[in-house]
Order: sequence, then structure tokens, then C-alpha cells
Amino acid sequence: MSALLDLACPECGATFDADRIQKVCQACDSPLLARYDLSRLASELDRDELASRPRGLWRWQEILPVQQEAFRLGLGEGDTPLLALPRLGQDLGLRALYVKDESANPTGTFKARGMAVAVARAVELGARAFVVPTAGNAGGALAAYAARHGVEAHIFMPADAPHVNRQEVQAAGADLRLVEGLIDEAGRQAAAGARQHGWFDVSTFKEPYRVEGKKTMGLELAQDLGWDLPEVVLYPTGGGTGLVGMWKAFQELEALGWLDGRRPRMVVVQAEGCAPVVRAVEQGAARAEPWEGAHTTAAGLRVPKVYADRLILRAVRESGGTAVAVSEEAIASAMQELARREGILACPEGAATLAGLRRLVEQGWVGPEERVVLFNTGSGLKYLS
Ligand SMILES: *Cc1c(COP(=O)(O)O)cnc(C)c1O
Ligand SMILES: [Zn+2]
Repeated sequence: MSALLDLACPECGATFDADRIQKVCQACDSPLLARYDLSRLASELDRDELASRPRGLWRWQEILPVQQEAFRLGLGEGDTPLLALPRLGQDLGLRALYVKDESANPTGTFKARGMAVAVARAVELGARAFVVPTAGNAGGALAAYAARHGVEAHIFMPADAPHVNRQEVQAAGADLRLVEGLIDEAGRQAAAGARQHGWFDVSTFKEPYRVEGKKTMGLELAQDLGWDLPEVVLYPTGGGTGLVGMWKAFQELEALGWLDGRRPRMVVVQAEGCAPVVRAVEQGAARAEPWEGAHTTAAGLRVPKVYADRLILRAVRESGGTAVAVSEEAIASAMQELARREGILACPEGAATLAGLRRLVEQGWVGPEERVVLFNTGSGLKYLS
């Protein structure tokens, strides 16, 4: 059983009925976040019992929103490996360097986690047609989970998105619309489609449950490391779902009394060609201004206007974290290093975290004794041409 209580706006505190389809807090133009009855779970649930359940993301069903077993469909998402990187760690002078390798997820990226949960919950609440704007990977994931649930998907993607992303969407039988422009233009057209046809819009943070799916990365990380989280987590940040989700996961685990140590410092990694969050962190701003002329080969990081900027910036600050922008050359050589030194064919977004780490080690921001976890958010196979 899910212990879902309600949804709350993190800005004004207003609460919303979680048993109905909800989108955002319109008064604050803010995402909504799910709340669970954690004090009850703290006395009922045993972390080691959870660890022994069948593998996969639904293992965490009490702190996920889906109520009925029949809707907990999946494709084998979650429980990705946490791999030690001994050679790269030695190169960088670090004692304990790991990568959480999300490439093993269905559709080849961690977008599967978010869509698995968001689609399941929305179908449970009655949605039958979905729409999403995407740089590529979210579209592939929505198409797959819509097919899994037997519902309709409409995908708005920039015309210059990688060929593989278009093909996977069409292979799953979804309706693909190519858009001249970037993800923000795709977002405008998707929103118009939602208004016109009543499609449910699962844009990043425009509904409350993709972030719940992505938070399972943080839950797994805690379990993988024996409930003692690493000192530093580096995350390739586009819309920030994974970063906000993990930070939420760590807070929930703390409320459950399951964490043995402290929470990590969260590091936002972006590309120099599109770094709105890095700029906001450097300026000490509470909001991230839209980035003009966004460009990077790391398509998942090409998000010029960040809807959940307040939540991302709060997580970085509360955690004592930081933000770093890396060049295209640094991303390319980090991809090579991961593949040649450790055998990991990372996506450019994931490789960006290694490039960011190098900078932070050089600056002395990360110490040699600290345990560091990189997130490789997808498979490099999706980026080969
Ligand atoms: C979407 C995406 C990202 C960015 O994810 P957010 O959690 O929304 O910041 C990073 N890497 C890849 C491969 C992606 O597809
Ligand atoms: Zn509000």
C-alpha cells in the first residue's frame, strides 16, 4: 500500500487532493510535491525487509504514489548498478569513486523511472492520452510506458533531436511531432495540444509524479551504500527532476530514521553552452534566468528555461553543494576516459559529471577521502551515429 497523503506546494504550502489528477500550484507557478505518512511508515516498515523484496522500482511502493497493484506495470526499470571506478578514482586521487549507471534502464536512460511512475499513477486516476515535449529521451520513455499501459502518447521533439529518439518513439506507435526550435518551443506546442485535446501533459515538473519515480535513484543509492550516503553526488542537470527527486528521497529516508550518516553535497553539472542553474548558483540568485542561444551535444542538458529552478537551487544550497559548467571538449574527453579506463560507454550528459568532478578536485572542493558518486543518466549507445 502507498502511504501517499496529499500534494503540497513548496512555495505557499497549499495542499491538493492526491486522489485526483493535479498539475502545478497556479498561484505560485510551482511544481507540487507528494507527501507520505512517514511517521506511520517509520514504525511499520523495515529497511532491510524492503531490500529483500523482488528487484525493481516498485520495491519502494509505500513511498510511491500508485495505490493499486494492477497499475504497477513496468519494464524492469530501477536497481541499476553502482559501479566502483578504481582506475579513474586513482587518476583523480580519490579513494572511493562510483558511478550509478542508469544505462541499464528500459529505453536506455533514467527517464524510464520517471515515466514508469507518472504514467502508472495518471492511468490509475483515469488519464488515457498523454503528451510530452522532449529533447529526445523523455519521449522514448513516454512512448514505451504508454504502450505498456495501452494508452495514447503524443511526443513533441525538436527536429534536430537524435535520429534514434525519433525512431524509438515511432517504433512504440506514438504520435511524433517534430518542432522547429528547442525544448521550450516544443513545450509551448505540447501545452497547446493538451488544452485543445485534453491530453495529460507530463512535461518536467508540470505534474507531481515523474519526480517520484526519479527519487528512487536516491533510495537505491542509500541502500547500495548500506544506508550511509556518499559525501558528494554529481548530477547532470537539465530540468532537475533527478536532483530534486534524490534530495527529496534523502529527506524522506531521514524522516524514516533509516540514514546512518549525513546527506551528500549535491553538485549540479551543466554544459557551458546552456548553464542557467550554474549562473544562478554563482550569483546567489533564488531563480534561474532563461539562457539565450542554448547549445550542447548533451541534449538532456539543453534546457534553457528551468521550471523547478527554486527547488534545484534550494537543494544545492541546503546540501552545501555547488554547480559547475563544463566545455564540449571536456565532455568529449570524459566520454573517452569512461569508456577506455573503465569500459563504460556513457552518454554525454553522464560524462559531463566526470568533467565537472575533475574541476572540483583541482579546486580542492572535493577531498581525497570523500566518497563521490557520479550519475551516468543514459547509455552512450543512444548517441552513436
Ligand atoms: C533528461 C536527461 C537529463 C536531465 O535530467 P533532469 O533530471 O531533468 O535534470 C540528463 N541526462 C539524460 C541522458 C537525460 O535524458
Ligand atoms: Zn503555491
